[in-house]
Amino acid sequence: MQLNYIANRACPSGSGQTIAVVDPSDGQIFDHIQRSNAQDIDAAVRAAHAALDSTWRKFSAAERGRLMMRLSLKIGERTEELREIEQRDCGKPVRQARADALALARYFEFYAGACDKLHGDTIPYLDGYSVLTWREPHGVTGHIIPWNYPMQIFGRSVGGALAAGNTCVVKPAEDACLSLLRVAELATEVGFPPGVINIVTGYGHEVGDALARHPGIDHISFTGSPGVGTLIQQAAALRHCPVTLELGGKSPQVVFADADLDAAVPAILNAIVQNAGQTCSAGARLLVEQAIYEPLLARLGAEFAKLRVGPAAMDLDLGPLIRRSQQQRVAGFLADARAAGLMVVGEGKVVDTAPEGGFYQAPLLLRDVPVGHRLAQEEVFGPVLCALPFADEAQAVALANATDFGLVAGVWTRDGARQFRLAKRIRSGQVFINNYGAGGGVELPFGGVKSSGYGREKGFEALHGFTTLKTVAIRHG
Ligand code: NAP
Ligand code: MG
Repeated sequence: MQLNYIANRACPSGSGQTIAVVDPSDGQIFDHIQRSNAQDIDAAVRAAHAALDSTWRKFSAAERGRLMMRLSLKIGERTEELREIEQRDCGKPVRQARADALALARYFEFYAGACDKLHGDTIPYLDGYSVLTWREPHGVTGHIIPWNYPMQIFGRSVGGALAAGNTCVVKPAEDACLSLLRVAELATEVGFPPGVINIVTGYGHEVGDALARHPGIDHISFTGSPGVGTLIQQAAALRHCPVTLELGGKSPQVVFADADLDAAVPAILNAIVQNAGQTCSAGARLLVEQAIYEPLLARLGAEFAKLRVGPAAMDLDLGPLIRRSQQQRVAGFLADARAAGLMVVGEGKVVDTAPEGGFYQAPLLLRDVPVGHRLAQEEVFGPVLCALPFADEAQAVALANATDFGLVAGVWTRDGARQFRLAKRIRSGQVFINNYGAGGGVELPFGGVKSSGYGREKGFEALHGFTTLKTVAIRHG
């Protein structure tokens, strides 16, 4: 049985209710988390405020950094333990679960080093004045985290907020709480004062909503779907609470005829297969210059056919999806594709030994998906890649921009001038040229435009979002 983690203590919810924790690889219940309520959120917010006033504000930036570095090292020591927890809780193949734990350690390392490098400015002004700016923490930040990359998103969001001097209340997705509850314990072990990191589990519409509405929350970092992002904004608007929104995507991978296809093919595949397609920045739309459309699809189709899906512990190309309802959601998209007569170019295979109860989905490549079809517009959040040809550069840009989202784009071309033109004209938060995702480095600011959200996390830039700027003007004559 898992408990909430408030003020460095594991504590049950006052609700007396729990939620079953399911292993996506076999569909079996193996643990329970607390189904918390608004009173639990209130207790966590109070603990976070008490920590802010009694200890955290009094730490120097360098002391905060040292503590965060100790947590980074501890997570590094416990990589395999966290990997195992995540593998079971989220169905992530071994290498993905390990990569997530290592990324979490790296986020805390990066933000540990950033603590004492964040500072304001002095501004030249009228004679007789001195003007300076201070970067101050918001206070208590709320973090609502999705299930697809719990450790990575905790790292980038909570890591940045702590480095900027905030204390945190975290609401993980109910499908992905276990690794974060363990990380909170590790934070206590390395010396984090009580109340700096608090974790409350439960349903989004219950505790997530209570967190977004709580008057003691001074900033909300939300990562999740556009629909819930709207609800968070509405709740926050009532008390003018600042929000960072990291929402979804339907990101294009644009391939020109002059591209290095030997480099592009594995990257295109990985961009949709990683984490079984449950990635906000998944490269879900493949736009290909007409001249190489057929040969590239033939090549990718053969690669899709080699992909294998199975239990997390088998560490195949893909693990299961997170839960039954996600599997049904993907199946709904595929039923629509069949009804529209869309053609499958290549399909992977679920291994015969995969347990019956697991939430498996074979990866698929579909061709000639019309730009207006929901498969070309909506986030599937599964391993489905939709291909469409383009005639020229202008059409490539138009198609790349032809969704409500704007999170990531990948462009493959050897033409240097075209690389810059595309980077300028595609509307998205990130553009990757001759790669996709650049390995996801923690240094790289990340976030969207349009319905993909606003604000940036990751990199040094995130610290600006986790602080508020105070201007101090002194008239000294
Ligand atoms: P989701 O349904 O929006 O949930 C995200 C989080 O919000 C979960 O913790 C959820 O809790 C909580 N929540 C749900 N309803 C809520 C409400 N009414 N008030 C407050 N909180 C609420 O998204 P998801 O299905 O977990 O995650 C997939 C989505 O996240 C995709 O759209 C994906 O693109 C996006 N995402 C974006 C990024 C990015 O950086 N841009 C990164 C990763 C994922 P429960 O699940 O416990 O109910
Ligand atoms: Mg689970």
